[in-house]
Amino acid sequence: MSAVNTPVYDFDLEALINVAMNQLKFSYVPYSNYPVGCALLCPDGKIIGGSNIENAAYGPGICAERSAIATACSQGYRTFKAVVVSCKALSGSPCCGACRQVLREFCPQDCPIININGNREIIHRHTMASLLPDSFGPENLNIISPGRVNVQIEVEAEAETKVE
Ligand code: ZN
Repeated sequence: MSAVNTPVYDFDLEALINVAMNQLKFSYVPYSNYPVGCALLCPDGKIIGGSNIENAAYGPGICAERSAIATACSQGYRTFKAVVVSCKALSGSPCCGACRQVLREFCPQDCPIININGNREIIHRHTMASLLPDSFGPENLNIISPGRVNVQIEVEAEAETKVE
């Protein structure tokens, strides 16, 4: 990839790649043997990982992206600054349709979504808007998208206010 086409990010992409690659070893994939990892960059700089988790009944399995988002949401995060998805295949693993919609709930339209392969090479480089164009989101239901506000900071600020 030429340097000319490489965007300069205001975050540590290598740190996200490290977490996404590390998540591959936590995948539970006895059926597909297709591990996928994910790393989410939270507004406060924390990086939260996820891995795909399969199930004998197949349907209840969950992708790495949604695993990471569920973990992050369970810790109070509602928006993300960047997403890296890893897989061992040299062709990389594009996000599935379900994950694109779930990412859309929490990622701003300009959020980088980057897919890397097992050699840590960038295979797909998207923004949320290009990953899921003309998408349906909270705004369509007159709800302010969590991707537009940092809910966790608001919650913490509210808690501090109550202490006073
Ligand atoms: Zn998926």
